[in-house]
Amino acid sequence: MPHTLTISQLTDKLTQGELTSRDATQSCLDRIAAVDDQLNAFLSHDPADALAQADAADAARAAGETKPLLGVPIAMKDVIAVNGHPLNCASKILGDFNSPYDATVTQKLRDAGAVVFGRVNMDEFAMGSSTENSAFGPARNPWDTDRISGGSSGGSAVAVAADECIASLGSDTGGSIRQPAALCGCVGLKPTYGRVSRYGLVAFASSLDQIGPITKDVRDAATLLGVIAGEDPRDSTNVPEPVPDYTAALTGDIKGMKIGLPREYQVDGLDPEVKAATDAAVAELEKLGAEIKEISLPHTEYAIATYYIIATAEASANLARFEGVRYGARVDGASPEQMNRATRGAGFGEEVKRRIILGTYVLSSGYYDAYYLRAQKARTLIRQDFLNAFEQVDLIASPTTPTSAFKIGEKSGDPLQMYLSDVFTISCNLAGLCGISVPCGFSKIGLPMGLQLLGQPFGEPDLLRAAHAYEQVTDWHTKQPNLD
Ligand code: GLN
Repeated sequence: MPHTLTISQLTDKLTQGELTSRDATQSCLDRIAAVDDQLNAFLSHDPADALAQADAADAARAAGETKPLLGVPIAMKDVIAVNGHPLNCASKILGDFNSPYDATVTQKLRDAGAVVFGRVNMDEFAMGSSTENSAFGPARNPWDTDRISGGSSGGSAVAVAADECIASLGSDTGGSIRQPAALCGCVGLKPTYGRVSRYGLVAFASSLDQIGPITKDVRDAATLLGVIAGEDPRDSTNVPEPVPDYTAALTGDIKGMKIGLPREYQVDGLDPEVKAATDAAVAELEKLGAEIKEISLPHTEYAIATYYIIATAEASANLARFEGVRYGARVDGASPEQMNRATRGAGFGEEVKRRIILGTYVLSSGYYDAYYLRAQKARTLIRQDFLNAFEQVDLIASPTTPTSAFKIGEKSGDPLQMYLSDVFTISCNLAGLCGISVPCGFSKIGLPMGLQLLGQPFGEPDLLRAAHAYEQVTDWHTKQPNLD
């Protein structure tokens, strides 16, 4: 069953001639046909286009080409531009808009030989933690389809967890790669801000957004990051650091590595099962030779408020471009202004409107200093907390999420409860760090849980090394949901 393979397993079989990319791609397409009615991970996909790419990859291999992802099917979050394919951000406002160009990450995947296919579900414009804010219905958790997939890259995580693709890309502004990966039992990596180009990623909060991989294991995350990372003159915040061979970091040896546990992360609402699973994972890292230390991140309590001011402020500006003139759907009105209002009123969902209103408020004259400016100052303090901590430790460990996946509908009427569930993931974005979530156990009722590791800017090699060493001594990542 080729769709169940990891990137490295599939690549071995392709190299040995045991399988073709057409076999693997067809297997993913068949899997989508068999299970996606239950899951709603895919908003759309184009089988003929995917198979044509697979055939081209098989022909290239036959001609002697070797590329890191040659013939590997990768699914794309609906916020990343793929030339000629729908780009909806799971919103109605984009109507039948198709992207006229490839994002840099898309181009890099193509250059590496990948089969770039499918538009996977997400919270509208990446705003949310459950994929319930999709205009096309929630993506469902394959471990219990009455539960949320996490968000905003819920479709990316579901597609990987349910073996509908080999790996996927998501985006992470405040946890949107790591959190759904944790709740669906996958590996999710948020790269350092500036590591991966944002060109062709529809902007939510430009100072926080990063694209990253969601995969079946840590090695695949290293491989995929190696392909998508790197310099891009088309993104002015992209940092021209050389891209190391991330798979070379997977030595299994973490002896002497110092891992910090933040004192302030013992928050109310932390589920005892999640706490027990992450404590056990940290004990495992210690057994592998890591040195565990308590650290302090004193401004943690301000992180959620800071994030929801900065992210909404940036979103209110970024989403001004959806006004019915340039992109997608339009609702006519007697004047341009009325057309504009009617289009935005009908096109945006409730959460997106809430964020635009909140963001406009915190940026408005008279409130700017009290909210936006203070949030920027708090952000600096939060970043400084991490930089101080990284003088004592190499990595920081915590749960990825305070609970395992909750029921669909359980928090959708209470935005504040939803925002609070981002407590462990958002600081990483505010501070511009890298972070990974790896599966670290299952709750009594069979729901996956994730261990989060945070690393210094451009510390992905250490992050991947520790996550991989942990994965080597556990088998959580090999478990599969039963969808039959
Ligand atoms: N849950 C957070 C939010 O709603 C993070 C979303 C994201 O990372 N895109 O903003």
